[in-house]
Amino acid sequence: MSTAPLLERVRPAVRDLPAYNAGLSAEYVRRTYGVAHVAKLGSNENPLGASPAVATALGQIGAELAQYPDPACGALSERLAAELGIHPARLIFGNGSEDLIAIAAHTFLAPGDEVVTITPAFGLHTIYPAAAGARVVTVPLRPDFTIDVERLIAAVSPDTRMLILSNPSNPVGSALCRQDMQRLLAALSPATLVLWDEAYYEYAATDADYPDGLQLLGATSLPWLLLRTFSKAYGLAGLRIGYGVAADSAMLELMHRMRTPFNVNRLAQSAALAALDDRAHLRASVRHATDERERIGEALRERGYRVAPSHANFVFFDTGEHALSLARRLLERGVIVKPWLEPGYQRCMRVSVGSRADNDLFLAALHACASIRPAQHPIDRSCESLSKP
Ligand SMILES: *Cc1c(COP(=O)(O)O)cnc(C)c1O
Repeated sequence: MSTAPLLERVRPAVRDLPAYNAGLSAEYVRRTYGVAHVAKLGSNENPLGASPAVATALGQIGAELAQYPDPACGALSERLAAELGIHPARLIFGNGSEDLIAIAAHTFLAPGDEVVTITPAFGLHTIYPAAAGARVVTVPLRPDFTIDVERLIAAVSPDTRMLILSNPSNPVGSALCRQDMQRLLAALSPATLVLWDEAYYEYAATDADYPDGLQLLGATSLPWLLLRTFSKAYGLAGLRIGYGVAADSAMLELMHRMRTPFNVNRLAQSAALAALDDRAHLRASVRHATDERERIGEALRERGYRVAPSHANFVFFDTGEHALSLARRLLERGVIVKPWLEPGYQRCMRVSVGSRADNDLFLAALHACASIRPAQHPIDRSCESLSKP
């Protein structure tokens, strides 16, 4: 018996799809490397965890577990709509915001369509469009790791069906300023969907010049979808819930037909409501991430590393050597980071902000494992001005 006759007939878009690099679990690293403690700094999770109010809310759900969740996320929708000052019909929820990236790709893209994004980028920004058969055009960052708005403007045309960007960017953490975002939006055609991913919005919201995506997109007549998530600053990555705000409800009517009807489970809906209530926990999470991000960045710069400016809960830097082999050596010391694999960026790694102790463990392990001392070794030109703040 063979499945080959079936597999040979699978669409090339599926057969050629790269696997998502989901990172390693703490369990796996503990078992494989025999380390007692693992610093999990590869997935941008919140080291403070979720608000204690979430555990309380989840504890009250027991009896309702046998019933399907609300397919419209009604209570959460009302609550967020009031907070954002929009009509609830312009909100859509997903099993993580990545679910919404997939739904948008399958709703709005056809085989052969052109999608424009940046590189390095969040893997799913290219994988889901590619799964829908789209052709993804990627625009590299400037040498100082800021987003190259001129090249993005040059890359888009009325033939571009989707522009997909995260601001702040993942994996780098740099962000388009208000003026550059406005210039970019002004260059787009009304036939281009703007998929604006604000997974790290909460960390950047109070930074000078960080644009209010909702306001700037809302001021255009473009079709747009703004994405946010409860996985990062709210600490709910394990429950899977994110949301999108759309230019209008007509766009969402199509997306609702394409999603699975119960894509957000009962626990996630209830947890998100509880998390929204605890503003103090959110503030503490953001403060911890931004303080520690600056401390890690400073420590790396002092050692001579070129560090990208970050508005998020992670730091991206040029290790000066092959980042994947360095990351393997860090694993032996129980430290998980994300070495970047995209061509042109393979000396770079992204380290998430963890607890203070885990961040110190990372800095000590890096010092012990690095095979070069960056201050003494010239680094090639590809990351030339990365250390500029
Ligand atoms: C983490 C992340 C997401 C989404 O995460 P979910 O857990 O699916 O909500 C989306 N976009 C970017 C850029 C991210 O880094």
